[in-house]
Amino acid sequence: MESKSSISRRKLVRQTVAAGAALGGVALQAQTPGVLRGSNAGRKFRAYVTRPGAGSSVEELTLLPIQPRQVLVRIEACAPCYTTIPRALPQPLTGPNANRGRVEIPNHAAVGIVEEIGALVKRVEKGDRVIVAGTSQCGQCYQCLHGDPDFCQFTFGGDIFPPFATASDGAAVVAQAGVGGSSELAVVTEEYLCPVFTSVPAVELSLLGDQLTSGFAAGMCRMKIEAGSNVVVFGAGPVGLGAVQAGRVMGATQVVVVEPIRYRRELALKLGATVALDPNAEGAGLVEKIRDLCKGPTDRKFAGGEAWTATGQASSARGADFTIDACGKDNATPKVERGPDPTGILPMQQAWECTRMGGHVMYMGAVQGNFSLNGTSLALLGRTIHPGQQGGFHMMRDIPRIVKLIERGLIDAKSMIQGTYPLDQAGQAYQDAADRTKLATVILMS
Ligand SMILES: [Zn+2]
Ligand SMILES: [Zn+2]
Repeated sequence: MESKSSISRRKLVRQTVAAGAALGGVALQAQTPGVLRGSNAGRKFRAYVTRPGAGSSVEELTLLPIQPRQVLVRIEACAPCYTTIPRALPQPLTGPNANRGRVEIPNHAAVGIVEEIGALVKRVEKGDRVIVAGTSQCGQCYQCLHGDPDFCQFTFGGDIFPPFATASDGAAVVAQAGVGGSSELAVVTEEYLCPVFTSVPAVELSLLGDQLTSGFAAGMCRMKIEAGSNVVVFGAGPVGLGAVQAGRVMGATQVVVVEPIRYRRELALKLGATVALDPNAEGAGLVEKIRDLCKGPTDRKFAGGEAWTATGQASSARGADFTIDACGKDNATPKVERGPDPTGILPMQQAWECTRMGGHVMYMGAVQGNFSLNGTSLALLGRTIHPGQQGGFHMMRDIPRIVKLIERGLIDAKSMIQGTYPLDQAGQAYQDAADRTKLATVILMS
């Protein structure tokens, strides 16, 4: 048998994957007990679990031994992400996002306390409070090395994550995206963890692994919103309101929000939006309304102004400096005001059109269908399209500074949380998020 010190990191990674392929059973026994046997193996815990074709419920599970690069986290709070709704609702849906025939713990972010670390873990220590982020940062893959850690290959590596628990019927249990979150315990590789050293309540920190951070990073990190600029945000959900707050913190003088749901428009105004528009009320005039809002004090070109009366391509002189589309498609029929297009394509087109020549537009929503652009406008108008993902988020760099901004009162996470639920009511937390009757919902484990 090999000693612990003689096993290479690469080999241990391969063993971890192999263990997953064997559903955490036989393959584990072939590995070095001293490395793999955690003191918490066999521990019972509860989790909100989805079973293919059989709905979702809170079940008691049994923890498997953690792997050398894994970390056991006692979850404190978990905010369901809207994109995980198709895999978390009581009747799992069909389609690419639906439950893939596995017993799974949904969601992909949380906050908690480290209870055990594998032998090769360096980033966190036992007792650390950690943000469990939906996007990893390994620092070693091609994307991380090229400055794009929100495209880290660990996040986009497919379903290599091994089961980390078993159900009472012996079924292997996996976490969605290797993260999950709606459970008392989670086991994740260290690339997904960022330790935070703060007294900010866990409920507020629960938004930092995903929604709020994605929107805030969109404005601060990838778009780099300039002071004095015009910003437009389509969609005032948890991501969009993160972008609204980025606009305020970065010094935008105008932040226009486009949102069909009244309570979300009102919250956007509280969090930093200067104008809130209802796309249903504005109808076909929405883009022109935004262009009007963004026009400066003069239309004299020689005086630095924009041509208000120009037609054709030149009409695109007016518009937002920075536009963030954070709408996406409806994953369920809203029980509040519905937007004009449940596929999310219309807001993408409007976001493009309301951005000024030479401006910046970012797309963050998961939409349904294809989005097309006029090729000539793409060539001539000089608008920069930014990919959404997590907004250029470097989790190890950005989570600590977002925590500081919360501590200083510059980011308001608390107002975005409109419902807290014990684990027994986790299904309701997902349902309220799906219905859009509440902005952000948070499952509290204790
Ligand atoms: Zn998410
Ligand atoms: Zn990476």
